[in-house]
Amino acid sequence: MEKKIPYKIYLDEQEMPRQWYNVRADMKKKPQPLLNPGTLQPVTLEELSGIFCEELAKQELDDTTPYFDIPDEIRNFYKMYRPSPLVRAYCLEEKLQTPAHIYYKFEGNNTSGSHKLNSAIAQAYYAKKQGLKGVTTETGAGQWGTALSMACSYLDLDCQVYMVKCSYEQKPFRREVMRTYGAQVTSSPSMNTEVGRRINAEFPGTTGSLGCAISEAVEAATTQQGYRYVLGSVLAQVLLHQSVIGLEAKAALDKYGVKADMIIGCAGGGSNLGGLISPFAGQMLRGEADYEIIAVEPASCPSLTRGTYAYDFCDTGKVCPLAKMYTLGSGFIPSANHAGGLRYHGMSSTVSELYDQGLVKARSVEQTEVFKAAQYFACVEGILPAPESSHAIKVAIDEAEKCKETGAAKNIVFGLTGTGYFDMVAYQRYNDGEMSDYIPTDEELAASFAQLPKVE
Ligand SMILES: *Cc1c(COP(=O)(O)O)cnc(C)c1O
Repeated sequence: MEKKIPYKIYLDEQEMPRQWYNVRADMKKKPQPLLNPGTLQPVTLEELSGIFCEELAKQELDDTTPYFDIPDEIRNFYKMYRPSPLVRAYCLEEKLQTPAHIYYKFEGNNTSGSHKLNSAIAQAYYAKKQGLKGVTTETGAGQWGTALSMACSYLDLDCQVYMVKCSYEQKPFRREVMRTYGAQVTSSPSMNTEVGRRINAEFPGTTGSLGCAISEAVEAATTQQGYRYVLGSVLAQVLLHQSVIGLEAKAALDKYGVKADMIIGCAGGGSNLGGLISPFAGQMLRGEADYEIIAVEPASCPSLTRGTYAYDFCDTGKVCPLAKMYTLGSGFIPSANHAGGLRYHGMSSTVSELYDQGLVKARSVEQTEVFKAAQYFACVEGILPAPESSHAIKVAIDEAEKCKETGAAKNIVFGLTGTGYFDMVAYQRYNDGEMSDYIPTDEELAASFAQLPKVE
């Protein structure tokens, strides 16, 4: 007899993963290596260890080891907010009158409000273990900075956050949460770093960008003794840590004998999507199962659907290694009227390669549609979703609607990456009917592609 599936599938503490899964190990064609921007040769462990903690640099370069033990200290921290529930969206199914079965993995159940804490605690742990004084980073919308400040305060590490100026000004509460956890928060571009002063001189009055804040944080890490830089998305090490999401989701589904048909995630730099899909993509790569995987991105920053697969800079200041990825060009800055997060110009090399191999599909959605789906979901399922997460909600609802037409009882799983309490200015604009969609023109993208570094 089929087991009745509860509204929330919780795993026991003991069932929480003991290892992270590195999907690159099962890829026959691997993601292309990071390159040193000076020599254009693959970065070495030694070079990378100047920027990142050594253990994290090792994880970054390792594309053959399938499993990494999760240290007990990290697992114990995870236990404060994990395992996270896999929710059967019965209320949403009922409201939509769809034959589809919809599940979402909810990662918003911690103070930082998103999945980013899964990697923040891991990165802070390795920094501490290496005996460092502190770490530097950038934050855009603020979730990563918040997660990192929580992890650093737990481990008694100094935390310096460069926050994109427009968010620094528009999201004072995010800033104060970070400061409450002891982080030092600087508006970027700042006058603290050489690259910040250069960008301020070149673009007076600029409200900043993620790529620019990354350059500042890297410079701050490399010019202070005992500091390293940490990054909350895009990197292979971050996808590795985020695999805890997918491993738990799969364990929860397996517990009830449910086989997902479709897995949907929003994609900014690709970390939650990469983490959610990792164990499933691993099965696909090993020829054990098949899934339809959809990455959802904003139409205003469409790196997978309209970008080009090329080596590019990860930051505006061009100090980071080059990564082969689907990119809009490191000079691309999404329109200021785009409120829905997911603003990074490139996509994780791993997700990019899986997309290029056809294992992952992509779809772009416009922000007014995203907020409409967000509000619908909030009213039906109770959770006020982050705008980023709502990209996945939008496509999950679209797919459930399609099932109504075909009568197919598909199992749809999507990642609900976080809550949207700090995004109420964007919700206000939506509620006031003042939200607009901005889609870059082909000419704008072509101009940005023309600036890509010449590598191949
Ligand atoms: C940062 C963030 C994202 C996007 O980042 P990815 O690396 O693409 O996962 C999505 N949702 C929330 C809530 C976030 O904070």
